[in-house]
Amino acid sequence: MTFSRGEGLIAGPVARLIEEFSKLPGIGPKTASRLTFYLLRAEEEQARALAQALLDLRERVTLCTRCYNITVGELCPICADPARDQTRICVVEEPLDVLAIERTGVYRGLYHVLHGHLAPLEGIYRENLKIDELLARVRAEPVDEVILATNPNTEGEATAFLLLRDLAPLGVRVTRISRGLPTGGDLEWADPDTLGAALEGRREL
Ligand SMILES: [Zn+2]
Repeated sequence: MTFSRGEGLIAGPVARLIEEFSKLPGIGPKTASRLTFYLLRAEEEQARALAQALLDLRERVTLCTRCYNITVGELCPICADPARDQTRICVVEEPLDVLAIERTGVYRGLYHVLHGHLAPLEGIYRENLKIDELLARVRAEPVDEVILATNPNTEGEATAFLLLRDLAPLGVRVTRISRGLPTGGDLEWADPDTLGAALEGRREL
């Protein structure tokens, strides 16, 4: 076993994995150490499976060329499914929001993932979001309704307002999910019943 200089008694590879785990959201130094020592004692197969899953994540997962959801291959399973309602596009901020809405079971249309929200103070502007891509879809596809399902917080509302302005000249029906959701929250944390009701109770903009 080798010992890195600054780390005292902790072997280099151990210290390195603790450091990498510590960089993940929600994981403090204690949890990072616990996970690392767990993997040190676990079956080699388990550690290898984790390492392979991490590699696959970066090497095989891409964005759907139509809706920008995460996928392996060109189209995501939702875009590739001809049984989905092709006349509705639900616009969300993140791929996790797609999962949250799918869990409600009330929506059978398509999605469009913006990959963020408008936040000029954080340097996120209109051109950083997949907005032009959405407008191109509305022009090219048989879309009757665009449902704005950005988060019910300040940034999400600002993003919805911008989208409404951009979509208005295209003559498509634009709706917003209802305010039944806890304000300030994220879609991905809403319970399926509340989110389903917010979708069904959407209102015309
Ligand atoms: Zn897709």
